[in-house]
Amino acid sequence: MKKLALHWKILLGMVLGVIFGFAMSNFEGGKEIVQDWIKPFGTIFINSLKLIAVPLILGSLIKGVSDLKDISKLSKMGGKTILIYIFTTVIAVSIGLLLVNVIKPGNSISEETRTELVGNYTESTQKYKDEAASQKESGPLKALVDLVPENIIGASSENKNMLQVIFFAIFFGIGLILIPESKSKPVKDFFDGFNEVILKMIDLIMLAAPYGVFALLAALVVESPSADLFKALGWYALTVLFGLSIMIMFYITMVFLFTGKRPKTFIDGIFPAQLLAFSTSSSAATLPVTMERVTEHLGVEEEVSSFVLPIGATINMDGTSLYQAVAAVFIAQAFGMDLTLGVQLGIVVTATLASIGSAAVPGAGMVMLVIVLAQAGIPEAGLALIFAVDRPLDMCRTIVNVTGDATVSMIVAKSEDKLGEPHVKDWDDDYEH
Ligand code: ASP
Repeated sequence: MKKLALHWKILLGMVLGVIFGFAMSNFEGGKEIVQDWIKPFGTIFINSLKLIAVPLILGSLIKGVSDLKDISKLSKMGGKTILIYIFTTVIAVSIGLLLVNVIKPGNSISEETRTELVGNYTESTQKYKDEAASQKESGPLKALVDLVPENIIGASSENKNMLQVIFFAIFFGIGLILIPESKSKPVKDFFDGFNEVILKMIDLIMLAAPYGVFALLAALVVESPSADLFKALGWYALTVLFGLSIMIMFYITMVFLFTGKRPKTFIDGIFPAQLLAFSTSSSAATLPVTMERVTEHLGVEEEVSSFVLPIGATINMDGTSLYQAVAAVFIAQAFGMDLTLGVQLGIVVTATLASIGSAAVPGAGMVMLVIVLAQAGIPEAGLALIFAVDRPLDMCRTIVNVTGDATVSMIVAKSEDKLGEPHVKDWDDDYEH
């Protein structure tokens, strides 16, 4: 019998996980069984993906940069990457603002629902506010200072320091380019091999993906709040989802226009990464798979993908910025505030910067939303309004974040003449088909 393709298996795992979660919610003690006996497998799965992130960045970026052989090529590619990332983010925020102003989801919230939501969730949102407050206290150049680690072992010991690891890897790669080839060759060969091992480890982890997503979704379902709340926030959620769908169309069009790759080819290539983004709500955890899909299934050469994707996972979050724009205006509407054009333009700037500053982990977008709200003079208490539906929206905006990174990597690759044909490695056969 022909084996099922990986993405179907993952999809099946997701659907069965949701069904199982609902079934268990109906039993006395079912929730606890899922939390104690199923959820840990989901956590193990996410941890194993995160485990790969730092070695993957180190290995592939050092190899990628040193393969460029020329520093001017690196700075050209770097400049292009950052510019396109900022462009797509501004588009995302603008789409979010346009939709939320046309649909006006905040006007459908009655005063009663608002008071109830704020009352129920104010406590839950406190940790986001605290985290945002500590980020706000720092000076204007803090982000730049944070880029340079004082100790690479220390930096590599925390996934949230991804940008610091990226900085080290690029710096190391530049060093490799600048020394004589007789000296750099053994180091490059080492990282070449190291990289292959990491990619193989990703393949092995992906074998467990269908089971991992089953566990993650079953746990999410038993822990989710009641359906009534979803109804109250229906228009808001729909506005965000509509915006996110427009972004996906935008990417598909960009890929077609700039690289000539057909929508089906693009979606088939990136689909497993999208499913994982949805299940894990973390672009950082998805990064290894995004990298593998883009390189082996969409034909982006590793020199480009190893550079563009880790940077994108940390700074390019179009889904997050779109959501922040919609959420900020939605909260203002629900509180009966009228936002001037100036304030809304301010939101474009802060949401763009906030999404750059958001970590690639679940819920990070909400922390930075606090800053967007403060900047626009919208009550922070409003965070409690959207809290109940944040997780499902987080899952969806992470899909967009990951797809955006893949899109930009393809466009940059094309412009550098480094977009070829897909080349699934022989030893991937067992996992792919
Ligand atoms: N979960 C998102 C990501 O990892 C960030 C966010 O919007 O909260 O891409």
